[in-house]
Amino acid sequence: MVLQESIYDARIRDAGYKITCARSLLVDMFKQANRPLSLNDLIKRLKEKQIDIATVYRNLKVLKDARVIQQIDFRDTGAHYELMDDNNHHHHLVCVLCGKTEDFHNCGVDEMVESVLKKSSNFSFIESHTMEMFGICKSCNKRSNSKLKIKN
Ligand SMILES: [Zn+2]
Ligand SMILES: [Zn+2]
Ligand SMILES: [Zn+2]
Repeated sequence: MVLQESIYDARIRDAGYKITCARSLLVDMFKQANRPLSLNDLIKRLKEKQIDIATVYRNLKVLKDARVIQQIDFRDTGAHYELMDDNNHHHHLVCVLCGKTEDFHNCGVDEMVESVLKKSSNFSFIESHTMEMFGICKSCNKRSNSKLKIKN
């Protein structure tokens, strides 16, 4: 019986890398988390597995290169990573106070691309785009409202 290889294992192999313990562990971690993780999040989760920071960092680069994960810039809270799923195109809402994130779909960029290209004299192709939205989540909003009341 042949076990079906996951799409992520296939991408690692196609990019010319071997599937190692650390790489599989990282992929599993992203699957479980189901949200973007920072280097610090990963190190915290990998502490009891005896994997050091250098190994995590090196393998993040490999997974990025193999298009298994993508890097997202969350400004103050820095670079985050999540699995790259072509069938789940989405972006993120980020709370600037607690760092909570939420996915949102339908960014509407597809319709925008055509008109952007039409107006551009230098570009003929859009390969990718990023769109993160920064705000305050409901629980932080509640907390800051009650703090304000105490001050008054
Ligand atoms: Zn918040
Ligand atoms: Zn996401
Ligand atoms: Zn989009």
